[in-house]
Amino acid sequence: VGEGGEITYKKIQSSQIMGSIQLGIQHAIGGLASKPERDLLMQDFMTVETTNFPHEGSNHTPAHHYSEFKFKTYAPIAFRYFRDLFGIQPDDFLMSMCSAPLRELSNPGASGSIFYLTNDDEFIIKTVQHKEGEFLQKLLPGYYLNLDQNPRTLLPKFFGLYCYQCNSKNVRLVAMNNLLPSSIKMHQKYDLKGSTYKRKASKTERQKTSPTYKDLDFMEHHNEGIFLEADTYTALIKTMQRDCRVLESFKIMDYSLLVGIHNLDDAQREKNEARKLTESGQSDGEDNEGETKRTGLNRTRSEAREDFGIQVKRTQSINRQRLVAHSTAMESIQAESEPIDEEEDVPSGGIPARNARGERLLLFLGIIDILQSYRLRKKLEHTWKSMIHDGDTVSVHRPSFYAQRFLDFMAKTVFKKIPSLDLPEIKGNH
Ligand code: ATP
Ligand code: CA
Ligand code: CA
Repeated sequence: VGEGGEITYKKIQSSQIMGSIQLGIQHAIGGLASKPERDLLMQDFMTVETTNFPHEGSNHTPAHHYSEFKFKTYAPIAFRYFRDLFGIQPDDFLMSMCSAPLRELSNPGASGSIFYLTNDDEFIIKTVQHKEGEFLQKLLPGYYLNLDQNPRTLLPKFFGLYCYQCNSKNVRLVAMNNLLPSSIKMHQKYDLKGSTYKRKASKTERQKTSPTYKDLDFMEHHNEGIFLEADTYTALIKTMQRDCRVLESFKIMDYSLLVGIHNLDDAQREKNEARKLTESGQSDGEDNEGETKRTGLNRTRSEAREDFGIQVKRTQSINRQRLVAHSTAMESIQAESEPIDEEEDVPSGGIPARNARGERLLLFLGIIDILQSYRLRKKLEHTWKSMIHDGDTVSVHRPSFYAQRFLDFMAKTVFKKIPSLDLPEIKGNH
């Protein structure tokens, strides 16, 4: 990734990857329409479809100005089934993925993966390594079993696995749910593992506008943890326990809990500041970003739909702010939504919490980066050191050690249970 210059992945310009994969996905979704819905068969997990995209176009593919490429779609029928489980209509998926340019996110990870965000904020496309792609393919039947039993989970929701091939280079991509809606300001972001070894955001990361902090930073910023109401706490920890059991059964490690914190009191202060500025005539009243995303999202969606010649059918129901069902943090942990969501200008879907200063928070979270299996894990030099540092030297037990330490950290250090968020010393309802 050249700073200042064009961003590349495996020496392919990122803009070229984005444009080409949109063509590939559009073709793949279109092709599915002719395949009737049916029960999943075991072989559906293994299918791979390959399409050539020549410059001049073909009977099935449009002409384009990118380099010629091949596009592979893995397990198309199985992923259609997963999308269906989450209430994603083929038209909507197509719209999200293909009707507007993707946005590239800056990735704080060390792996060099690139992340793309769909314009409507619903999906993230991440480039993954060969091994990770292969692992996801193997994981699919078991992942399906788990989802079918329990769609309420904090595990990543995978909606597609693809491979873009150009000049004998392979770029593997997974489409998944976006945990952090970009219309909601995250005052802090954490990538937490339960390890303390080198778990501090780098200097470069800390200088970003919206850095992703790590475990040690969290303990420094929130040394008393984050407070949740008893029922919410229990629902969250139970969900994580169930999810970690699944991850452990697949010998998966190195995953994180991604936590985005929207501070309602800070948001209020920012809003007041903005209002003061407007009143003193220094700024014209641009709407604040804490504004509920519903209107904005629906607007772009329906506008884009019109561009696409798709009739706008969906009624604007309050329960349908997000395209992906069971997908907000609150829904993922099966907790009841408190009346907080009915307040007009408060973003919905976050988990209500408080920090030690009594400030009202909304948490957006989920488990990420689960495609690293212990068996496939690269033997990095620092891995040995971290093993010794973490006191985890018995290798067969590593996935279970990892899961236990992760859960302990979340249940004891990160989240704290309190009887009520509306403590007597704090004025106002949460
Ligand atoms: P590494 O292997 O070096 O840890 P990676 O390239 O595999 O990194 P991830 O750990 O998956 O990347 O994610 C890196 C960052 O990208 C996260 O800390 C988070 O800020 C953001 N991110 C990842 N997945 C999501 C998601 N589903 N929704 C929102 N943000 C995400
Ligand atoms: Ca990671
Ligand atoms: Ca990774």
